[in-house]
Amino acid sequence: MDAARINLPSGKPTLAMSVYPVESVGQDAWTRSTEYTKASIEHYSEKWLEYPYPAAINVAGNEGGMEYPGIVFCNYESKAASLWGVTDHEFGHIWFPMIVGSNERLHAWMDEGFNTFINSLSSAAFNDGEYKDPERNMHRFSSVLVNNNLEPVYTSPDNLKERNLGILAYYKPGAGLSLLREHILGPERFDEAFKAYINRWAYKHPTPDDFYRTIENVVW
Ligand SMILES: [Zn+2]
Repeated sequence: MDAARINLPSGKPTLAMSVYPVESVGQDAWTRSTEYTKASIEHYSEKWLEYPYPAAINVAGNEGGMEYPGIVFCNYESKAASLWGVTDHEFGHIWFPMIVGSNERLHAWMDEGFNTFINSLSSAAFNDGEYKDPERNMHRFSSVLVNNNLEPVYTSPDNLKERNLGILAYYKPGAGLSLLREHILGPERFDEAFKAYINRWAYKHPTPDDFYRTIENVVW
């Protein structure tokens, strides 16, 4: 087990902690987990809204990754970019849906999709882009976005084919927000509106309409 101080905007003390078996030790593995945890929490706190809990704990387990308030579990064999990715993703869930409490059983895109989007900014920011997402080939990617065999993103997760969940809940809504940010509104306008959404709906239960209204209200 190791730990480090997380520096939050308000100065409130919070601790990043990692717990892992000896098999997971290594500079390209869990020895960097606390560094990842600290960076992830500090980025989201600075960019969107301050982390609310007294500790952020990353536990090495036998699942791919799973989020809970203040504690996440990531695979004990994950290494380097994949350990950063899963750690950053599971802690991103603190903001969606722990803080902004949208209903993940009905609107997976407001949970996994929004999280996937903020993960891309966090990965670009971490350690001068050490694990930045590769530039997406939008020409190739467009065939995924407009594939008529996929259910609508609005479909509740119970009602879509499980093999499509990765695209519909994570990838497509995440890419949609990136398109809106990078190519339509520009980062400054988009980030102001997205931050307003997070702050207005923190510790509440927004529906899709609440998201649209907030974004339109701030952007226009
Ligand atoms: Zn997730």
